[in-house]
Amino acid sequence: MGEIHLIGHPASPGLAVGPVAVLTHAAPRGAAKGDPVQEAAALKAAIEKAAAELAELIATVHGEAAEILEFQVAMLGDDALAEGAYEAVTAGAAADEAWRAALDAEIAGYRAAEEEYFRARAADLVDIRDRVLAGLNGADATARISGDSVVMGDDISPSTFLAVDWARGGAIALAAGSPSSHVAMLARARGAPMVVGLGPLPWNGQPSLALVDGDAGTVIFDPKPETRRLFEHRMAAANAAQIAADASRLKPALTANGRRIAVLLNVAAPEDLTGLDPAICDGIGLVRTEFLFEGSRGLPGEDAQYAVYRRMLDWAAGRPVTIRTLDAGGDKPIAGLTIDGERNPFLGLRGIRLSLARPEVFRVQLRALCRAAVHGTLKVMLPMIAVPSELEHANVMLDAEFAALKAEGIACARPPLGIMVEVPAAALCAENFGAAFYSIGSNDLTQYTMAAARDIGAVADLNDAGHPAVLALIARTVEAGCKRGVEVSLCGDAAADTRLTNALLATGLTTLSVSPIAVARLKAAVAAVTT
Ligand code: PEP
Ligand code: MG
Repeated sequence: MGEIHLIGHPASPGLAVGPVAVLTHAAPRGAAKGDPVQEAAALKAAIEKAAAELAELIATVHGEAAEILEFQVAMLGDDALAEGAYEAVTAGAAADEAWRAALDAEIAGYRAAEEEYFRARAADLVDIRDRVLAGLNGADATARISGDSVVMGDDISPSTFLAVDWARGGAIALAAGSPSSHVAMLARARGAPMVVGLGPLPWNGQPSLALVDGDAGTVIFDPKPETRRLFEHRMAAANAAQIAADASRLKPALTANGRRIAVLLNVAAPEDLTGLDPAICDGIGLVRTEFLFEGSRGLPGEDAQYAVYRRMLDWAAGRPVTIRTLDAGGDKPIAGLTIDGERNPFLGLRGIRLSLARPEVFRVQLRALCRAAVHGTLKVMLPMIAVPSELEHANVMLDAEFAALKAEGIACARPPLGIMVEVPAAALCAENFGAAFYSIGSNDLTQYTMAAARDIGAVADLNDAGHPAVLALIARTVEAGCKRGVEVSLCGDAAADTRLTNALLATGLTTLSVSPIAVARLKAAVAAVTT
């Protein structure tokens, strides 16, 4: 068969060539079927092995990734999940057939769920299904994927993604998936090229080699020697450009005509800063504090929060650090805090709305922030602001906590309070907010402007931060910031999308915030801007 070209959506930039490792294909079972007792024992052992593998992985990750794995381990420990499979085994079915049938029924239920939260969890169940099947088939689910492979499948779960060492140069090519999914965000943060939405893969056998272009969103399977040679030529040029960009990572970002652009960092947890030289950036533009609230440890206390915030301020050595108050809800449910069963959680009680509804939780965070503020240049921002009264309410609460700490004789400072502009209403009326600064959340601003959810692959084309409507809202916010004399930055994923750098800087933006891995690439893209 000749080479096969497929066109999908770019989800994480970069070029890669590698052997294909197919996910979720049903490898035939090597061992012959035993009697029902042997089959049940084999199933039990495979479930336990899968749970142990995932538990081992939990120790190596944090935040959202750890929470997903904890969910999977809990599912594997839930007897109700395997009940149907054991019944089928007792009735004479093979362990692998029985497990697959039981899990497929469960997965279908999750996929049909009305809430996006449960639909998103279907990928986690597919992962559990295949992990146990791999155990039954005598295969090691993670060993099959070496870090230099092009991983191909319908979708990829975070646990499978996190088990691979992407520093070795692999890539991901998915039939389904979404560029705004959490796995796509993880891929961008780790520098793994990724293409999604390739559609049904048009063959029965397995291709042996693939060329992945994460910039263009294309994949070529089983390329002809000449195609491969040209691709590798492009990779060499891209590598040389990357090396040149890395060399200027420590230098300030300047456009070709000398306009200074501040480049800040987005951080999901303090571990993201480990080993990083603060000189690569002009400060931290977004700390997503959700990581503190996730997992099974319960809500974090004031001292625990203070310690983490202080660590980041110490790292930044005087550079500004913008910490966002808890942005729970929407695609980030937190057990015991967010509302279960909201019909449309993206339009529900999330971000600042939830913090104001749960003042006892919000107050603890505001106190910890005031205490940390004495250790550097701290700025605090509020997520999902839609109307000025939300900011006013938060300002009153911040004043009260600051005054209370002072009265208690505890060292503290009152940080400036800014807002995220990620709801179109806030962008259109930005001037009406008494915010100390604006930070544009292009991920949410795009989904709300285009009415295209950030995590639904079927509408990925519409979820376009470069659409003129989104750019107009960004420009409007910049204009409001100029009029009011306050800083405007952009911290959504669009900041790292170098195809948009020109258009973003044309709106008048002078501050962009991106994940650490995107800094060198962004500075190189800024240097090419002539306007
Ligand atoms: C955004 O919406 O662009 C943003 C930065 O916030 P998050 O992705 O955490 O919702
Ligand atoms: Mg957001």
